[in-house]
Amino acid sequence: MASRALFTSRAGGWSTGPYSSRNLGTHVGDDLEVVRRNRDQLAEEVGVRTDRLFFMEQVHGSEVIVVDDSSNSSELRRCDAMITRTPGTALVVLVADCAPLLLIGERTSAVVHVGWRGLFAGIVEKVLADMESERFTAIIGPTICSACYQVGADLYDQALERGFIVGNQRLDIPRSIIKILHDVAGKRVERAEWNGICTLESESHYSYRRDQLTGRQAGVVIHDPQI
Ligand SMILES: [Zn+2]
Repeated sequence: MASRALFTSRAGGWSTGPYSSRNLGTHVGDDLEVVRRNRDQLAEEVGVRTDRLFFMEQVHGSEVIVVDDSSNSSELRRCDAMITRTPGTALVVLVADCAPLLLIGERTSAVVHVGWRGLFAGIVEKVLADMESERFTAIIGPTICSACYQVGADLYDQALERGFIVGNQRLDIPRSIIKILHDVAGKRVERAEWNGICTLESESHYSYRRDQLTGRQAGVVIHDPQI
């Protein structure tokens, strides 16, 4: 079997109210027992044991953590990216407007949480450095689109200076990520694309900017490299 990538939406699960119905975040005020049930359902769907389904405590930083055979999924990992080379491991990034970036390499898989802070902190570059010389495919899931993502003048100017994709006081996170991937990894990029779904415009997805009190959807990679 080859490594796989998928993105969840609000559909499925058992959460109610503003979290309806497949919230996977434990930090947003939803009933934790229900979230655990939603997470168990995700593990079953992707075909891994719950102890091989790894979540992060995301802090909008640039910490990258390696998950291997000895990693314990019940331990808290305060970071914004995980990489693994251990087959049968599923890595999860949770989002509601930030970009879920999934990387599937020849030997390594990774998930990355990319908001503007992570973009500026260089988290994408850090993960690429850990993937060394591998060729890889990059997929960005549901995230806020540039038309919906107006930013302040300071941030806009800094983004312009850094060479990110901007326009009309807006920051384009998915296309900025794709630019970084090509700039840094060049021919190692087999494919890099955003699936085109804007969280703020899609009623099927959680959007923090739209709703504030809301749940989180996931990007997941299941690492099973073909050797
Ligand atoms: Zn949009």
